[in-house]
Amino acid sequence: MKALEKSRPEPGLWQVTAPVPVIGPDDVLIRVHKTGICGTDIHIWNWDDWAQRTVPVPLITGHEFAGEIVALGRNVTGLQIGQRCSGEGHLIGRDSRQSRAGKFHLDPATRGIGVNEQGAFAEYLRLPAFNVVLLPDAIDDEIGAILDPLGNAVHTALSFDLVGEDVLVTGAGPIGIMAAAVARHVGARHVVITDVNPMRLDLAAKVADLVPVNVAVEDLGDVKSRLKMREGFDVGLEMSGNQQALDQMVDNLVMGGRIALLGIPPGKSLVDWSRIVFKAITIKGVYGREIFETWYKMIAMLENGLNIRPVITHRMAAADFATGFEIMRSGNSGKIVLDWREVADP
Ligand code: NAD
Ligand code: ZN
Repeated sequence: MKALEKSRPEPGLWQVTAPVPVIGPDDVLIRVHKTGICGTDIHIWNWDDWAQRTVPVPLITGHEFAGEIVALGRNVTGLQIGQRCSGEGHLIGRDSRQSRAGKFHLDPATRGIGVNEQGAFAEYLRLPAFNVVLLPDAIDDEIGAILDPLGNAVHTALSFDLVGEDVLVTGAGPIGIMAAAVARHVGARHVVITDVNPMRLDLAAKVADLVPVNVAVEDLGDVKSRLKMREGFDVGLEMSGNQQALDQMVDNLVMGGRIALLGIPPGKSLVDWSRIVFKAITIKGVYGREIFETWYKMIAMLENGLNIRPVITHRMAAADFATGFEIMRSGNSGKIVLDWREVADP
């Protein structure tokens, strides 16, 4: 099969011919139709410090996918060949305290496809049957291919009650935009989304009824008065990993405000903890998706009118992956989806 591999410990990814994965008794084999390019894949392409510490070489990368079940391991029940699916890319252990308590997303032994294990940038993917999420007809392959990052957005956005609340989202990357759209969908009052990249703020405004704010030129205080907000935002969703964005969020939250942090800062960063204490702010770190509650909720919302399709800005054949990665690395895109149904040579 054709696949995209980190073949050498240096920047780049290479299209290779690899054996179709052999499945175990509890696995399924998935014919991949479409995949999304993620920020994580960019780190792996760039071969930064994190990637060098984390990713074994060689490895087929990619973890955002949709496809079709084409083979079942002998112990697999409840799934059928021909079913369309996406799936949870975090492969969990079953022995930890949290896993045995049913909180699978908190298992410390989690391994990621396309990061620690063979991934989805390929014509075929092996996945434990447990991780499969079937797709209803209403969710096509390109939306199926971005359920993983939508799941990050949904997990973050649903961390706190947003009904009637004023919500500040910092960072209008694909995940921030989708989180803002979810906040709108579930009934927040004002949803303000910040960035310093005008292209991404324009995209945010196309995806949902949001208030985009370029914090490089506009002051959040002015935005609050324009919206007739008297005190501050009730809930903050931090989706940039940027220290200034977090500072700004703390500044503009109400007393007792709540923050869900998904964005990953590049290293250690200075935090003015006294402000957080005096404002009595609650902070929750968010990792991955709740297995499988986030999947259930996001599929239900997609069936019930949540439309995140405009966040996909580029669609291309898998063989054109190098162009896709170049666009993604420029920061001037939303989600980029690769089509794996007929893979030519690059
Ligand atoms: P992204 O890098 O595409 O988007 C981040 C955005 O933040 C960019 O558009 C950037 O211009 C913007 N930004 C930079 N400085 C800013 C500032 N001062 N104020 C406001 N915005 C600013 O990332 P993404 O793919 O949308 O992911 C969002 C974040 O979530 C990233 O940090 C990513 O690493 C992290 N992430 C975490 C998990 C998890 O499980 N915790 C999973 C996926 C992604
Ligand atoms: Zn991802």
